[in-house]
Amino acid sequence: MLEVSDLHVSYGSSQVLFGLSLVVHPGEVVVLLGRNGAGKTTTLKSIMGLLEFKVGSVRFRGQELKGLPSHLICRRGLGYVPEDARIFKGLSVRENLEVARRAPRDLQSAAWDEARVFQLFPVLEELLARRADSLSGGQQRMLAIARALMGNSDLMLLDEPSEGLAPLVVAQMLDKLLALKSSGKTVLLSEQNLNFSLRLADRAYLIDKGEIKYESTTEDLRNNEQIRKEYLML
Ligand code: ATP
Repeated sequence: MLEVSDLHVSYGSSQVLFGLSLVVHPGEVVVLLGRNGAGKTTTLKSIMGLLEFKVGSVRFRGQELKGLPSHLICRRGLGYVPEDARIFKGLSVRENLEVARRAPRDLQSAAWDEARVFQLFPVLEELLARRADSLSGGQQRMLAIARALMGNSDLMLLDEPSEGLAPLVVAQMLDKLLALKSSGKTVLLSEQNLNFSLRLADRAYLIDKGEIKYESTTEDLRNNEQIRKEYLML
């Protein structure tokens, strides 16, 4: 579904990604796992057209996305949930969901609408009239995911969904994302949290200093202590 090849990305004269490649197949949950500053956000932003890159290619369903503005990349079927949960803070929860609504491209597939979103996140139904900025950090993150679902994307990019959340909320987030995975959603997420990733993802790419150092099933990563120590210090 997604094929990133030989991606080189710089901020001005400072190069951050050095020939990064990864693939995501339909129905998979794939994690890009790495420490602070490894290049995870840069990778996701490059895929979404939020950062320009001169070298490399990003193909989605066989079509090149390089050079497309990010709103057109969204229309091709990619959804993005940034780390800082970019929701409309001055709008209510209901309004946030309404403005994100988009019909699925493939009319055969079961669309995400409010009713389906509330099955996954019942708390959002209780908070419908509340302004988004009055929600807790965890609720705002869930609203951001719900907004991405309302957009009926084929592939969701999730930047560090567990980051900055209290342990109890991280556990709730894991349950929600596992439910999403059972529904067949294809997800590429970035994470620093190894346990969260091991429980959620099918496959993992370990990123360090802008390069993929190791690629395996999460099962193999669980059993590979040396790799975990080398690149994640865990
Ligand atoms: P984090 O968990 O901290 O977000 P990350 O793995 O997502 O880490 P990136 O945010 O992609 O890492 O950052 C990769 C490198 O690029 C870091 O060294 C960071 O300092 C640098 N960087 C990120 N954004 C910019 C920017 N706008 N200008 C210059 N350098 C940047």
